[in-house]
Amino acid sequence: MTEAPARVREHPRSSLDLPAVRLPGIGPESAKLLERLGVRTIGDLLWHLPTRYKDFSRFRPLRALVAEQEQSAIAILGEISQRRTARGQLLTEAELLEEDGAPSQVRASWFGRAFIKETHRTGERVRISGRVRWVGRSLQFSQPALEPADAPLVHTGRLVPVYGLTEGLKDGQVRRWLHTAIEGGPRRTAIVGEVPEPLPQDLRNRHRLPDIAAALRQVHFPDDESRLLAARRRLAFDELLVLQLALAQRRARWTKDAHASPLRVADEQLATWVATLPFTLTAAQGRALAEVRADLERPIPMSRLLEGEVGSGKTVIAALAARIAQVSGAQTAIMAPTELLAEQHARSLAALFADGGPRHALLTSSVTGEERKRVVAGTAEGSIDVVVGTHALVEENVVFARLGLAVVDEQHRFGVRQRATFREKGDGLDPHLLLTTATPIPQTLNQTVYRDLDVSLLDELPIGRKPITTHLRTPDQLAGVWEGMRIAVGRGQQAFVVCPRIDPDEAGDDIPSAIATERDLRMGELRGLRLGLMHGRMAAKERDDVMRRFAAREIDVLVATTVIEVGIDIPNATVMVVLGADRFGLAQLHQLRGRVGRGTEKAYCVLVSDAADSPRLAAMVEQKDGRALNGFELAARDLEIRGAGEFLGERQSGAPELRVVDLADVDPRLVEETAGEADRILRVDPELGRSEHELLARAVEQLWRRYALA
Ligand code: ADP
Ligand code: MG
Repeated sequence: MTEAPARVREHPRSSLDLPAVRLPGIGPESAKLLERLGVRTIGDLLWHLPTRYKDFSRFRPLRALVAEQEQSAIAILGEISQRRTARGQLLTEAELLEEDGAPSQVRASWFGRAFIKETHRTGERVRISGRVRWVGRSLQFSQPALEPADAPLVHTGRLVPVYGLTEGLKDGQVRRWLHTAIEGGPRRTAIVGEVPEPLPQDLRNRHRLPDIAAALRQVHFPDDESRLLAARRRLAFDELLVLQLALAQRRARWTKDAHASPLRVADEQLATWVATLPFTLTAAQGRALAEVRADLERPIPMSRLLEGEVGSGKTVIAALAARIAQVSGAQTAIMAPTELLAEQHARSLAALFADGGPRHALLTSSVTGEERKRVVAGTAEGSIDVVVGTHALVEENVVFARLGLAVVDEQHRFGVRQRATFREKGDGLDPHLLLTTATPIPQTLNQTVYRDLDVSLLDELPIGRKPITTHLRTPDQLAGVWEGMRIAVGRGQQAFVVCPRIDPDEAGDDIPSAIATERDLRMGELRGLRLGLMHGRMAAKERDDVMRRFAAREIDVLVATTVIEVGIDIPNATVMVVLGADRFGLAQLHQLRGRVGRGTEKAYCVLVSDAADSPRLAAMVEQKDGRALNGFELAARDLEIRGAGEFLGERQSGAPELRVVDLADVDPRLVEETAGEADRILRVDPELGRSEHELLARAVEQLWRRYALA
């Protein structure tokens, strides 16, 4: 790229490059908060996409409102009053009159929002949106959104976007800013119109895709659901196309240039190792081992995904592969997503290699001083055969004398980054790569990120595992659930309570939060038990510390968010309670359930939700041949249940690999279409050098940069 002259740099060509603070309404404080969300420029803000929508598009007269539904009404504000509740919270209440001034039974109430009384007055015509509930014999809007009836539809009366936030930012603020960027203002044009169109016109015509500005507009402020779907499809198309281009280019390079050193073991030696394991391998483990072994023998680097249920025994396969590497004179890196899991792997290796085997060492940030020096030096000179650590540490800080095998124990669900990092390090030889995952992989992924992966499936559990009993409960049955938990703890067992979110929501909906739940239980139903709290905003070290205390039985009940999803073996934990269970995807629920039932005691999973009719929750208790559905069956069921409109629900938590597309749940047709277009483009322009592909080339570059591969 050529340097832009200084004058041009001062006046960027496009408003998209301006810092976010230049958008009307965004002050320096807000801009700082936005940076935490990765939003620096106005262009970044446009790409801060809604995570879901509230459907406030249905209008009803007050007298016709339906309880527990999202809806809107035009109303006249009656008396507005404020008082403190017994708990000291500020409560604002408003009477509502029908549009024509007729009295109504419906009221509105808000906790905490002092400004409601300041910004609205009795007699004002307003548009009000939210859920109504029965309070006594009348209906009440709780925490509704409110706008003057003649104001543009931003927070009410439409499909209303909901954005990912960070502490200090309010949902309404972010929505307002995006509305300004998308719709412009009285004296300014909409900035969204400046977003350059990356797709050639003929391609857009072929796939009937709206232009990029229209798609962004509809995705933030949809006119209706069908336009929203078309817009999502367009953004997903771009993202998948770029991914397909990136992977296809890379694949072309790898197949040309990749070499690995063959790793071999004699039959008798392998048989001896297997015979001295503390257990007999399952048939599935036997097959997976044979497949891995065959790959390792070849001079082409293995790219294999070992896929199997939680507890199906993936570690031992990785350990045996490491042992094959060792007898072939090569080193192995085993990377775990957390320090705690790395420690657990190191312990497993010690147990599995009780009769000798590879010299292995743990490398986490808790390994310091002399020990750290020893491990780093030993790895560099080759006296250590297997290094077990966290992804970051091993990737960034360690030099290997002869790295022959890299094992990536699930972190990134798709491991795109790890695969590429090791390949790209390529000092001549490429290590064999073994990825493990407990997430069932939908078929569509085999056509995208996994096109270059072979899969080994562990589709059976070791014998002797006790089935876990799953119950569905509503929140008003919780007293019994806590009682049961007390009994389990009384027997010396431990329990998990999982919540969908960290903090109580300011808007006051009643989605359970880990922080409030822990506090309430500690002072209430579980008083006297030892409670622990763990969530994603705690530092990794703190989280590990809590887990360690839980493992040491210093904590009876761990209240957490899904950070425990990829967790560790606590055989003593027998109860898993999931609050707000309808807010989780099936794969997540299944993972969570897999955290218990690993010991000798009978285990229970209790899914708590008011959504008694949720098909997902039903799938969790469904029986087939007298057992619960396994992960693969649940994954298939998940796809059946989610229609195209499922994104109207909350997006599953966890850092997405991509911004728009959930690779675990993408329309297979879109995958095919983008794969076809990527091939077509690369056939005529393999380096993406043509001017009409300039923006695509830049997007490919950005994709790799996001994976730190520039
Ligand atoms: P995951 O697939 O979830 O990584 P692990 O490898 O951690 O599972 O194995 C879970 C537990 O099962 C471990 O305690 C391990 O020692 C044990 N295990 C693994 N394979 C077998 C087997 N074939 N028979 C009995 N126990 C096994
Ligand atoms: Mg594992």
